[in-house]
Amino acid sequence: MKASNFLLKTQKELPHDADSINASFLVRAGYVQKLLSGVYALLPLGLRVYRKIENIIREEMNDIGGQELLMNALQPRELWEETGRWEEIKDIMYRVSDDLGLAPTHEEQITDIVRKKISSYKDLPLSLYQIQVKFRNEPRAKSGLLRGREFMMKDMYSFHTNEEDFEKYYSEVTEAYKRVFSRLGLQAKVVVADGGIFSKHSHEFQVLCPTGEDTIFICSNCDFAVNKEIAEVKDGDKCPNCNGTIKEERSIEVGNIFPLKNKFSKTMNAKYLDNQGAEKEIIMGCYGIGLTRALATLVEIYFDQQNSKMPWPKSVAPFAVQIISLNKDDEAEKLYNELLDKKFEVLYDDRLISAGEKFADADLIGAPVRIIISEKSLAAGGAEIDMIGGKEIVEFSKVTEKLI
Ligand code: ATP
Ligand code: MG
Repeated sequence: MKASNFLLKTQKELPHDADSINASFLVRAGYVQKLLSGVYALLPLGLRVYRKIENIIREEMNDIGGQELLMNALQPRELWEETGRWEEIKDIMYRVSDDLGLAPTHEEQITDIVRKKISSYKDLPLSLYQIQVKFRNEPRAKSGLLRGREFMMKDMYSFHTNEEDFEKYYSEVTEAYKRVFSRLGLQAKVVVADGGIFSKHSHEFQVLCPTGEDTIFICSNCDFAVNKEIAEVKDGDKCPNCNGTIKEERSIEVGNIFPLKNKFSKTMNAKYLDNQGAEKEIIMGCYGIGLTRALATLVEIYFDQQNSKMPWPKSVAPFAVQIISLNKDDEAEKLYNELLDKKFEVLYDDRLISAGEKFADADLIGAPVRIIISEKSLAAGGAEIDMIGGKEIVEFSKVTEKLI
């Protein structure tokens, strides 16, 4: 991609109504554009990062047998009346008319699909997921993409003949979630939390962050971690599981998994016939990850405000390589084409702007490898490659080899 053809428009000034680190960075650096409170468009730069997040999640869900489908934003009232949620969550669900609403989550629709498709124990277990837009009338949509009123979620639902099989899968999902967050460059803790209207307890994946809206208590020594909303410990207490000390921390909830058991199958009559021909309720779990929230969390964690730099983890950076030419466009163009041929995700800043502006923008794009071609680098024998581990001059013919 050439920067001259790319929608790359950074603003010098912070947007005046930015309420959070993530929104001010993402808007200023041209990753997203705000339409209204809690509603953001992903611009080409933001979409590139978003797609990386999406693909990592998709790979990990496929790896544990998840089958992808795509459900709908527009929902019929009668389906939600079956579970009583048309009334129960009316404050959060946008209603577009008397008999239609926009889905804040999809337990009703997925259970409806499964009850119509599944009849026998031979059809189970089953795990279905989607990566889809959700709508929630959030009263506090003030944290940029951390809390959208329209946002992207991966929601997976699993269906089992018995609790034992469900529990086994629930642990597999827990491990898959740990892999997702570690690949995204986020250190997520598994935290015991309230299960809300779904279950007694749930498990949240929380990333420690001073700007987070959640408060959790974690042990300094072991894996003990609990959300403040159900905590029976406080800061400074001795850990109930070991000799460690409990610490209070702020955090961001990036994922949440729930043992639904028969909560939906009972009310929605989702049954299967067991091997004796007896009718049984399907046992379910549900598993969410906020994709746009994960994107915002990366910014909250990694953005270096002081130096105006966004060092994205390699796995999610919008470009793998950025070429900056300082009046040496022929050599830069040649290297750019070579890297494109080798399928590198490369951005070549060929714009007619100052070196300072190019470097400032490169800091906001945060490609893990930066190649500078200048009078000075040519005199030293090639291109200057700047990546984690330091800078060095590399002969043109050796650049691609160096990057692999
Ligand atoms: P919160 O407590 O932060 O309001 P929640 O517990 O209501 O979130 P879930 O229903 O558990 O959210 O949704 C699954 C995941 O979707 C969350 O873990 C979070 O990552 C993401 N998510 C939820 N609400 C939002 C939102 N308004 N904007 C962006 N992501 C969200
Ligand atoms: Mg939650």
